[in-house]
Amino acid sequence: MKVLINQEEIHRGIARLASQLHERYGNEPLTIVAIMTGSLVMLADLIRGLEMPVRISLIRASSYRGGMTSGELTIEDSDMLDIRGREVLLIDDIFDTGKTLAEVTRRLERHQPQSLRTAVFLNKRGNSVVNQAPDYSVFDIPNEFVVGYGLDYDDLYRNLPYVGVLEEADLAAHQRLHGPSK
Ligand code: 5GP
Ligand code: MG
Repeated sequence: MKVLINQEEIHRGIARLASQLHERYGNEPLTIVAIMTGSLVMLADLIRGLEMPVRISLIRASSYRGGMTSGELTIEDSDMLDIRGREVLLIDDIFDTGKTLAEVTRRLERHQPQSLRTAVFLNKRGNSVVNQAPDYSVFDIPNEFVVGYGLDYDDLYRNLPYVGVLEEADLAAHQRLHGPSK
């Protein structure tokens, strides 16, 4: 698989984000709301670089029903921590059309946090259909379908320690091994 961002670059990118967050929040307690499952790996790496008190709340959102095609957006946030009056950072794996981040932001705003900012691991520039950009993005990437470091194709490849581009040959290999996408 073609490597787009290697482990070393990821490590430096996450450290850069952590220092931007220290600049912004200082020692203020921060509540991180992370969209599962894609931001799992970013979350685990990022929080270990943060020195302020951190609370973590997981919510689920899925827009890709297998394969690469966008489906209906579903959000499951029933056991979210109370964020009223808190400094909140919403994180996600990738900003593509922006619909996921915009919709989750809208929901979180209803709970009246003190502040709400957004950070994504990857920003696919040029695809946005919403009137909102992430406050922080670790890397800008071209419009290609990527996997690894939390990002999946058919629920696989999340564990790759790098970001790879899933090209035609990789797709063919995937289908030989696992059958066609659901
Ligand atoms: P958006 O709502 O911004 O269009 O899409 C965000 C979601 O789509 C992400 O959380 C991610 O699950 C999925 N997505 C968008 N682009 C890619 C991609 O290149 N690779 C993978 N694996 N998922 C993507
Ligand atoms: Mg996702």
